[in-house]
Amino acid sequence: MTGTNLAALGWNDRWARKQQATGAVGVPARVVRHDAVKVMVAGDHFVQHATFSRSTPLAVGDWVLVDNETVTARLDRETVLVRDTGEFGTQVIGSNIGLVFVMFGADRPLKQRKLLRFVAFAGDIGATPVVIVSKADLVDDPNSLVHRVQSWIPGVEVILTSTEDGSGVSDVAACIGTKTATFIGESGVGKSSLVNALMDEDVAWTAEVRETDAKGRHTTTARELHLLPGGGCIIDNPGIRSLGLHAEGEGLDALFPEIERWALSCRFRDCSHRTEPGCRVRQAVEVGDITEDRRKAYLLFVEEQSSAATRTAHRERQSSMRKEAASAQRARDSSDGIP
Ligand code: GDP
Repeated sequence: MTGTNLAALGWNDRWARKQQATGAVGVPARVVRHDAVKVMVAGDHFVQHATFSRSTPLAVGDWVLVDNETVTARLDRETVLVRDTGEFGTQVIGSNIGLVFVMFGADRPLKQRKLLRFVAFAGDIGATPVVIVSKADLVDDPNSLVHRVQSWIPGVEVILTSTEDGSGVSDVAACIGTKTATFIGESGVGKSSLVNALMDEDVAWTAEVRETDAKGRHTTTARELHLLPGGGCIIDNPGIRSLGLHAEGEGLDALFPEIERWALSCRFRDCSHRTEPGCRVRQAVEVGDITEDRRKAYLLFVEEQSSAATRTAHRERQSSMRKEAASAQRARDSSDGIP
């Protein structure tokens, strides 16, 4: 058991440099719970409440400096998980998350569209997506599901787990290392069961804490950032659980780089890669440069991007990629002596 030491919480040289850059007083600590007027923070062998200024909004996962039970600075975030709360705007529901586990249950049909959307979402926030196929004990050939996911998203890491027989749990812990992870997926896929299995050892400080409220009653409050027995953290809170996921922009490029590349040379700028003449994506499928599975996955995915804003962003990105490709071609032509 590592205790609440800084390295186990994810502290490293990058954070140390950020601490120096702030010039603020205080010791480093990580926000493990956020309430309206105070935060609970964990640092080197301590867990305490601290007050903070409204001018520096905080979220679970933030690294802060604490002096005299007061937050004196927030270190620049590396990633943020944001939830759109409609009329109230957006709210940061987790920060400094390096890994997003996208969970699916082996016992239900694997939905390609949903999988792609969740994986792209992880890419959008700058985290590494890892797919977990849970409840492996319930099917005869769980490896076929792993292969199917990898045929849709080449290169993505896929871990099979079962909290029934314990398989794959240590692989998930090894994947987390000293990073901070979160789990997304539909309700019932086994997120709580897996988080519990990961925290199987007696980790006193990760348990709920007993506190005394203003009227002297004992209450329990759950931390939303959990420290794993071997180091590494999991952020799990109601906001993350109720995320409506809409991936945009970079997630798409990261998911379908080969298709985006071919799409640049389609005859029509707004080619849908379905029936238009001069479609380079369909030609690439015909000669085997792109698999038909991937083209279909791409079409499903683009269809899913229903908001007008996303489509506009996508078109703008395509347009600037076209310009870049054209100027690179001009540069090549002129170096070849072609006028
Ligand atoms: P969550 O809503 O994603 O947090 O899902 P839960 O962890 O609450 O699990 C939902 C149900 O699936 C519960 O009845 C669990 O006992 C069951 N479950 C979770 N993981 C496994 C597993 O690996 N194998 C089997 N057979 N059942 C599981």
